[in-house]
Amino acid sequence: MERQRYGPTDALTSARFIGIRTFMRLPHVANPKDVDAVVVGIPFDTGVTFRVGARFAPSAIRENSLLLRPYHPVHDVEIFEHLSVVDAGDINIAPGFTEDSFARVERDLGALLDSSGAVPIVLGGDHSIALPDLRVLAKRHGPLALIHFDAHLDTWDEYWGHKYTHGTPFRRAVEEGLLDMQHSIQVGIRGPLYGAHDIQGSRDLGFDIISGPEVQDHGAPWAAQRVLWHVGDRPTYISWDIDCVDPAFAPGTGTPEVGGFNSYQALQLLRGLSEANLVGFEMMEVLPQYDGPGAVTSLLAANLCWEFLALLALRKKRAAEADAEA
Ligand code: MN
Ligand code: MN
Repeated sequence: MERQRYGPTDALTSARFIGIRTFMRLPHVANPKDVDAVVVGIPFDTGVTFRVGARFAPSAIRENSLLLRPYHPVHDVEIFEHLSVVDAGDINIAPGFTEDSFARVERDLGALLDSSGAVPIVLGGDHSIALPDLRVLAKRHGPLALIHFDAHLDTWDEYWGHKYTHGTPFRRAVEEGLLDMQHSIQVGIRGPLYGAHDIQGSRDLGFDIISGPEVQDHGAPWAAQRVLWHVGDRPTYISWDIDCVDPAFAPGTGTPEVGGFNSYQALQLLRGLSEANLVGFEMMEVLPQYDGPGAVTSLLAANLCWEFLALLALRKKRAAEADAEA
């Protein structure tokens, strides 16, 4: 039987502001079977330590994805020639109830990946959701190599006596054995800390770290190469906190830190990862109500999700070319 293929509505035949909002105008398929990638929103935002509002990020990122086109000129890849992709809508979280929401993510994201066989592109939500996302993925792939882009370490032990917040997911993930600590790395760390023990705490867990200033000094392509070298060909998950980008380019976020990546460096960091064995991506901590008038943060977030799709497509294209040569 011919495989059902899913791709975006063509803006040359239907103007791009027409229709119900999905990511890139992909079909909304709640229970997809046999697709390559699935976009899914997880609008949970009460795991935060400062501003709330990421519950509105999935819809804002979708709204600002309408202008994305199917061809990636830098990678020279027609994304939807190689990938069948749907938007599965949002997971039904329970605002204010962190562990209940984690259980819902594990159940519903798990079921979605089981039935679809897809690589997830998660639209968060605050960063606490990384923990149930990693639980779901590690169950399928074993301990994951993690590439964590963030201004913050998110490896603190607790806030106000609580273990599950957006400042603690990666310490929990290490404790639960979800990460391959020979091959996990944090990129973009910068800004004021509680003490030198913060960074040492991450290193003691086993993370390699490329700080924000190091990326500025040596360049984003250098950083991407170092990341690739570190993760190797292990199943790799990318967790992207939008606050790794400078608040001048991404003001719509909950815990902004000055001196971050510009939007082009953010693109370069992802474009340099085409050799990685990528099994999932999450876009976290976008707060639309703090965004600029041009919705620049949501626009950048949408573009970064598109960059990830292009990486998946490029890997498939290269595999097909290698098959054809063999
Ligand atoms: Mn952060
Ligand atoms: Mn974070």
